[in-house]
Amino acid sequence: MSEQSGRSVLVTGANRGIGRAIAERFVAAGDRVATIYRSGELPDGVLGARGDVRDTASVDAAFTEIEAQHGPVEVVVANAGVTRDQLLMRMSDDDFETVIDTNLTGAFRVARRASKGMIRARRGRIVLISSVVALYGGPGQVNYSASKAGLVGMARSLTRELGGRGITANVVAPGFIDTAMTQALPEKQQAAYLGAIPAGRFGTVDDVAAAVQFLAGPDAAYITGAVIPVDGGLGMGH
Ligand code: NDP
Repeated sequence: MSEQSGRSVLVTGANRGIGRAIAERFVAAGDRVATIYRSGELPDGVLGARGDVRDTASVDAAFTEIEAQHGPVEVVVANAGVTRDQLLMRMSDDDFETVIDTNLTGAFRVARRASKGMIRARRGRIVLISSVVALYGGPGQVNYSASKAGLVGMARSLTRELGGRGITANVVAPGFIDTAMTQALPEKQQAAYLGAIPAGRFGTVDDVAAAVQFLAGPDAAYITGAVIPVDGGLGMGH
């Protein structure tokens, strides 16, 4: 086992996509990995507790269940997220509020619950999965980009509050990653994104998982309040 192995890690939404790849990487490193998930099958070696990040009681119950088996969470990755793309004039309150409730308030619920054990232990790693769209913007994504930009303020306030207690809080901002979320975009929009990515390719789920694992590892102890882009240059560092 490596130096960073054997920690209690929680990744929300590890049943598919980016969350699944993140969980698999931590499992491969020898960590005790758990997830709060709504549906589907989990990768081998991942402990699952059913839950919905839109519901505080459900998040708290899932944490309690996971911590009973794995001990206090030392690394938390708020990954669960949704899109409800729609042009501004047609975007309903429900489209806006559901995306904020899941992506932004959901991350808050998860970070708040995780912080209890981290403060006691005087160590912890919080990683929030944002998006290049947070600072780049995207037509039809007023709800999504607002939710993802909010995570940047959240990580920076967490850093100011908890930085002195050995806890780091960072944001990973993926660009266009090949998953179900992006496969749902119209082909024309996919082609336009591809043309704008200096790396000339879409990202893989493992590109994102590698950055998350680094931020959660011992070499990143002095990185906090940062936004780490994993976007092939699409957002030029923003
Ligand atoms: P997917 O749509 O493939 O997966 C989303 C995950 O979030 C699923 O596990 C889903 O569960 C879970 N989830 C959604 N809502 C809830 C909820 N209320 N409670 C618990 N779990 C929930 O997305 P990706 O893997 O592509 O995205 C993962 C993260 O990365 C998201 O935050 C996304 O915004 C972000 N991102 C993705 C990019 C991309 O290009 N793909 C780019 C930038 C950021 P279920 O299967 O039950 O629906």
